[in-house]
Amino acid sequence: EAVHVTKHFPVRGGLPRRGTPRRVVHAVEDVTLSLYAGRITALVGESGSGKSTLARLLAQLYPLTGGEVRLHGQSVHALRGRAFREHVRKVQLILQDPFASFNPVATIAGTLNRAVALHHPGSRGKDRDAVIDDLLTQINLVPPRQFTAKYPHELSGGQLQRLSIARALAADPDVFLADEPVSSLDVSIRLGVLNLLRRLTEERNAAMLYVTHDIASARYFATDTAVMYAGQLVESGPSEAVTQQAAHPYTQLLISSAPDPARTAERVRDIGQPPSLIDPPSGCRFHPRCPYAMARCAEQAPEPFEISPGHTARCWLYAQDAASPGAAPGTTA
Ligand code: SF4
Ligand code: MG
Repeated sequence: EAVHVTKHFPVRGGLPRRGTPRRVVHAVEDVTLSLYAGRITALVGESGSGKSTLARLLAQLYPLTGGEVRLHGQSVHALRGRAFREHVRKVQLILQDPFASFNPVATIAGTLNRAVALHHPGSRGKDRDAVIDDLLTQINLVPPRQFTAKYPHELSGGQLQRLSIARALAADPDVFLADEPVSSLDVSIRLGVLNLLRRLTEERNAAMLYVTHDIASARYFATDTAVMYAGQLVESGPSEAVTQQAAHPYTQLLISSAPDPARTAERVRDIGQPPSLIDPPSGCRFHPRCPYAMARCAEQAPEPFEISPGHTARCWLYAQDAASPGAAPGTTA
């Protein structure tokens, strides 16, 4: 659970001018988001929207600037020593590029043996072999003994990504944070890896955050969808509602610009550029690109408003006192 999570990074290079405050990148701003056991939550946005940073904050790779992260209702920031390590183990990050995440001179058995030893201290070699066979079976690299002596370069991208999932599984996690887990893979094998992730999430009753720039895959793959823009969550709710009745103008833009596989010749709409996170726009951060922007949008930042149960959008169009509710663009996407 992310509760009002905020992360600012200092801008590197160049000293701040005398008398000016130190410049920061507002990478993640006041994000509140829950993941649930047995469910997949998609986190969708353009590159640079802060979604990978949020995943890393949940994995405790960086300290937060504000807010807190909870696991099973307990804040993790007060944990120290063994309790903290136990928490970190329960939350496993799976990265986009499997080639970059393996030691090229370690065999598959060597890599998994290290992961198993790390998470099962005191286990003996023979027991670990059985655990490794089981992990490889779970990710469908069978028969396991045909793979244990191989090196990363002898596996395909899809097999390697399965292996990184096995390495995460060695920790017996409660939460998977999968950051663009199939973006670097051939289109033909993406579905297999996504289905594997879904099966593991369901079988283990784990929670999964699925970070992606592809809103179409969110609808297919995730129970819930959250949309991030310029460091903020702008819309969240059941995937069906967010993708079929997108409420936020940015979500509508994302959907209308997604390439339609049925019409490959169609040009992808130019949707403009996301703003600088060093000086984010005032008020609603989307206002410079928003076709529905009103005077108040540049001045006041909207809170999330509830559209239907569990479906919220951070947009003034949905405020109770919205000047002309008839202008709501809900049906145009
Ligand atoms: Fe557009 Fe205003 Fe809604 Fe922001 S708050 S998305 S600028 S209508
Ligand atoms: Mg990213």
